[in-house]
Amino acid sequence: MTDRLQQALARIRPDVRAAHAYVVQPSTGVVKLDIMENPFRLPPELQRALGERLGAVAINRYPAERTAELAAALKAHAGVPAHCGITLGNGSDELISLLTLAIAQPGATVLSPLPSFVIYEMCAGQQRLNFVGVPLRADDFELDEAAMLAAIEQHQPALVYLSYPNNPTGNLWDAAVIERIVAAAPGLVVLDEAYQPFASRDSLDLMARHPHVLVMRTMSKFGLAGVRIGYLLGAREVVDQIEKLRPPFNVSVLNAEAALFALDHAEVYAAQAAVLRAERERVFAALQALPGVRPWPSQGNMILARVADAGATFAALKARGVLIKNVSAAHPLLANCLRITIGTPDENTRLLAELPLCL
Ligand code: PMP
Repeated sequence: MTDRLQQALARIRPDVRAAHAYVVQPSTGVVKLDIMENPFRLPPELQRALGERLGAVAINRYPAERTAELAAALKAHAGVPAHCGITLGNGSDELISLLTLAIAQPGATVLSPLPSFVIYEMCAGQQRLNFVGVPLRADDFELDEAAMLAAIEQHQPALVYLSYPNNPTGNLWDAAVIERIVAAAPGLVVLDEAYQPFASRDSLDLMARHPHVLVMRTMSKFGLAGVRIGYLLGAREVVDQIEKLRPPFNVSVLNAEAALFALDHAEVYAAQAAVLRAERERVFAALQALPGVRPWPSQGNMILARVADAGATFAALKARGVLIKNVSAAHPLLANCLRITIGTPDENTRLLAELPLCL
């Protein structure tokens, strides 16, 4: 390394230099059940129609009008009232980053139950904020109400995240407990509903009752993970603050057009989600019947399961061409836990055939 390069690198924050970039596992040629994608493509005739629509987009212009139309269409899709605020992100990952930036001042705290979505803590770290993780109950991964309320009282968090359903545990926490946590929280509370297409409940009523509650959703699990559209719903006064931090053209006009196309064909995606929910129940029952595997019930498109040796099972499955995620190292409560994304019926059948050979 040249001196000049070393000198320049030394100006980058030491904590950034010490950090690791988010790693996506290589997945060419394997059954990909690792990161909660919708495994279904659009039918060929809709793929062609999408291609035509994208071909007609004026990509010489910065996006603005189509993204505004997408924002309106997403509000209608979610069924929120016209006065509700909305802001769009390049995936909900970007919204988490913007929310963190909005509250980033010395001493501010971000709080979330753990284990949960790792990006909450990562973004708090990037802004050098305090992150308080409150362990879930060990056996059923329910919220520990007393611990959550005590942590809120002690740390007065500016931002609380509740992943609903939770990643990676897949469950929906008790609504009455959430209501009491929301009532006690002095700052913003974000209900992260990334897995809403697979869940039996949502938080729109909660949001209507509490102006400091925001609901964050994404089109990723709907079937557009590659398109990168997340959205944040909530009181206009709050959303307006996030809007000030949003890079003006963060959502590409092609992404907006693809998302509008998908909303025009929402029934296709709803049918895919229905298949995935039914498959989730089939996979759950099969896992439950396997000696040495303990799955937890899920309301997402993934199932968390404990095995005797998660590292060995993960590696053996991978060698047999099935890629899942070994989440054991993410939190002590996840010791020997694997997270299995629900795939197509054929992919799930393959998983269920291979798994007993890998335990
Ligand atoms: N929230 C949760 C709980 C997630 O699990 C994920 C992705 N796995 C996201 C948000 C981010 O989704 P995206 O950036 O694709 O919208």
